[in-house]
Amino acid sequence: MKLNLNIEPLSAWLKASHQPLVIAGPCSAETEDQLLSTAHLLAKTGKVSVLRAGIWKPRTRPGEFEGIGSIGLEWLKRAKTETGLPTTVEVANAKHVEEALKAGVDILWVGARSTVNPFTVQEIADALKGVDIPVMVKNPVNPDLQLWVGALERFNGAGITKLAAISRGFSSYEKSAFRNEPMWELTIQLKTLLPHLPVICDPSHICGNRELIPYISQKALDLEIDGLMIESHIDPSVAWTDAKQQVTPAALSDLIDNLTVRHPEATNPAVSDKLAELRKQIDKIDDQLIQKLSERLKIVEKIGEYKRDNDITILQLNRWDEIIQKRASFAKALSLDEEFTTKFLELIHAESIKKQTAIMNAKQVVQ
Ligand code: PEP
Ligand code: MN
Repeated sequence: MKLNLNIEPLSAWLKASHQPLVIAGPCSAETEDQLLSTAHLLAKTGKVSVLRAGIWKPRTRPGEFEGIGSIGLEWLKRAKTETGLPTTVEVANAKHVEEALKAGVDILWVGARSTVNPFTVQEIADALKGVDIPVMVKNPVNPDLQLWVGALERFNGAGITKLAAISRGFSSYEKSAFRNEPMWELTIQLKTLLPHLPVICDPSHICGNRELIPYISQKALDLEIDGLMIESHIDPSVAWTDAKQQVTPAALSDLIDNLTVRHPEATNPAVSDKLAELRKQIDKIDDQLIQKLSERLKIVEKIGEYKRDNDITILQLNRWDEIIQKRASFAKALSLDEEFTTKFLELIHAESIKKQTAIMNAKQVVQ
């Protein structure tokens, strides 16, 4: 299913100076010197299209640095005049919107902690009624696609058509190498619902440490993400917020050079012919898989009728264990991932049980 939002293409509001599109800048504006020197070095790389900086920072615990506030907007203004880079800041309430607009900020973004709260999102959207400014909406902290979609709908409802989503990972109770789990499937679901919505990835907040940023950045590009937002600081070791996940402008430049930008479709006819041939093979195998699944389920039905007529239970754990074991070792021998095979077999098994249960129930109705 697709949603009907009025969304302008990214190219209508953002000129990428380089591929991939990169939005970069410090997690927080700290001092005028820190922001300006970072901005100048970023601009000098020629690879950054937008300067970001947090002016108001949502902190988990009180007493931590909560952003430099309005004065930072003056520094951003100066950075923009001196470097020519458009600017973006996070807004979390109507007052932030008013101040950011007054300071000439070019693009607004809504943070993960705001997207979770429809009251906050609506307050920001209401403050933007009648204003023509791009808004980028980060995913909510928790893996809830509806909240993300809902926030985009609220902004579109307020007349914002220059919209983008930012995938910044999701909070998870499980321990992992990431600060926030990428959960790509949610971003893919969002792209499926809103195919025209530009989607940007924020590897910094997914990773939580700079070492993993190249890996996640490449992964994002391979998933047809439209751009990257990466935190960059003149001296990350002394950053006031998110020190571990920021990179110097020079490191950012290297990181970008090492990324491979892939294209959704091949431009070379030889490559697209080869792809078309391979896709044909896949189509044929998919048809065969479906044919075989249908044949399998017909046999399952026959077994169900036989069990019903002879008063045998549907679920026989021994038989199921045997199936899993035999098939899993066969699959392993063919270099298939064990977890994938097990999940696949479990799905088929669940469908078989469902079919046999329906057959048993039908008998009860007849009696
Ligand atoms: C940020 O971009 O600095 C930030 C606070 O991000 P998030 O809302 O993704 O946590
Ligand atoms: Mn940050």
